[in-house]
Amino acid sequence: MPEPVRALPRTRAALLPSVLVSGLLLGVPGEGPASGGGGSSWAATGRGGAVATVDATASGTAVEVLRQGGNAVDAAVAAAAMLGVTEPYVGALGGGGFFLYYDPRTREVHTVDGRETAPAAMRADSFTDPSTGKPIPLEEAVTSGLSVGVPGTLRQWDLVLRRHGTRPLSALLRPSITVAERGFPVDQEFHDQTALNADRFADFSSSRDLFLPGGEPPKVGTVFRNPGLADTYRRIARQGIGWFYDGDLADEIVRTVQRPPVVEGSTRKVRAGLMTASDLASYRALPREPVHTRYRGLDVYGMAPPSSGGSTVGEALNILERLPVPSGDHVQALHSYLEASKLAYADRDRYVADVPGVPLKELLSDGFAGERACLVSPTSALKPPVAAGSPDGQYAGCAAASGAGRPLAHEGPQTTNLVVADRWGGVAVYTLTIEQFGGSAITVPGRGFLLNNELTDFSLAPKSGDPNAAGPGKRPRSSMAPTLLLRDGRPFLALGSPGGSTIITTVLQILLNRLDLRMDLPSAVAAPRATQRNTPATLAEQSFVDAHGPALTARGQTLELFPGPPPEIGAATALEFLGDGLVQAVAEPVRRHGGTALTVRD
Ligand code: GLU
Repeated sequence: MPEPVRALPRTRAALLPSVLVSGLLLGVPGEGPASGGGGSSWAATGRGGAVATVDATASGTAVEVLRQGGNAVDAAVAAAAMLGVTEPYVGALGGGGFFLYYDPRTREVHTVDGRETAPAAMRADSFTDPSTGKPIPLEEAVTSGLSVGVPGTLRQWDLVLRRHGTRPLSALLRPSITVAERGFPVDQEFHDQTALNADRFADFSSSRDLFLPGGEPPKVGTVFRNPGLADTYRRIARQGIGWFYDGDLADEIVRTVQRPPVVEGSTRKVRAGLMTASDLASYRALPREPVHTRYRGLDVYGMAPPSSGGSTVGEALNILERLPVPSGDHVQALHSYLEASKLAYADRDRYVADVPGVPLKELLSDGFAGERACLVSPTSALKPPVAAGSPDGQYAGCAAASGAGRPLAHEGPQTTNLVVADRWGGVAVYTLTIEQFGGSAITVPGRGFLLNNELTDFSLAPKSGDPNAAGPGKRPRSSMAPTLLLRDGRPFLALGSPGGSTIITTVLQILLNRLDLRMDLPSAVAAPRATQRNTPATLAEQSFVDAHGPALTARGQTLELFPGPPPEIGAATALEFLGDGLVQAVAEPVRRHGGTALTVRD
């Protein structure tokens, strides 16, 4: 069973005057705090719409949109815009993401790819230092103009709203403009994320001036204002997204990427980026066919390439379905989960990226799953890195893995996921990011938002045949995995998480907990986590090691503590549809200081 859940820490909603989260939307005066009918903790059950995000203000904003008649897409966009204010280090304007929507009228699942894109001038060797012929050090790539991909968020918001929304972006930005302008109380999470980035922010005048007032991370309890972002949102509301992609702001973004505002005297080597105005002007958010598989009689939908989220979750579930996963034997079930995940990661690294001809159908076929599952022993562990399989349509039972596996490439550790359901049965699952906490650490001067460093998700030193080598106009492979499960054609579970390449294992483990180990959804989210991504050791939270370490080690698994910071895996949000319009919304109780789940009515 999962560890007992600790008390929910004080959240921003608790600190905010109710006026900031209620009555902001559409200029309608509020009737009270947007705490939702089902309570404002990390788990809430109710009707009329439900939301879970990592942040109380963002959840409050979304529930207010729902209460005022907006649908799940409207509420998801409003919440994401608020996260750009209250969680500026994890996502929004300067980044990208993947959006999944279940349309209750057509009963179809739609996904929209708003992934950041490489400039036209990018090549496979763009991360190689021309003077040494060697790959530039990862830390140098992370904090650079070179790693900034063309941001996709705003075009994605525009596209999902035009296709599936009911409210204009200008109205949905209004609550965020108010909070950015008036400010919000700094909590421990905001302080910690700033402190984590303080050295990097200090080297860019724009980031230093905004995020290090007085030269230091803002103290807990002080009010943080972002008038630059308020003004940016206001102009977007007034002038439309063309100002960002094709107007004055586009020029400012290009200037910032090409000549990052490094403070005088800084010793940091900051590489210039390749982005041009034409890269920004030509950016498109792309509708994509969702990836689909079945697990235990349920339909599982996820994100197609350039994310590896949908296919890797799907393949691992297919393998898992062929392995022993007894509900009464957690150790056996977890052993099967780790082995299935190990094999699916080997295949993702070999085959899945933003390239033509990804063999999605074969990767998700029963024959291939059978061939991969056949390699797994219930009593011993495969030695990682395992080699990729052959999803070639020729499946003759148990193919031996041959050749060497690849080491896991770098993927940053943070992002954010939100889930929304509306009263009509619409569901949105949205994962957005600027790559790692603080992205590139470069703020567009005066505009209040950080630029991503998503291009570090490419293989920085690709070997020949690596599908994830950088290239012009290419989107780096992602692990983001907004996921929706249907039972008999109706939404049953919706979930996603941040965590770079651990996103996939977090989604998998929550599904294992809920579907196979029969935990309720709050317990499935709260349970201790471990992540096996075809790495020599399985990385695990302390609580997981305490609970299962010796028994799994006896089966040949090697466990090490997940290093962090923070030493936690993921920060999931999830929904379960309980029937008759009743929905349970769940956020993290403890990880990243806990999230907030709300419903419109009890
Ligand atoms: N860059 C990561 C990805 O696209 C997301 C970063 C994170 O979740 O931490 O998969």
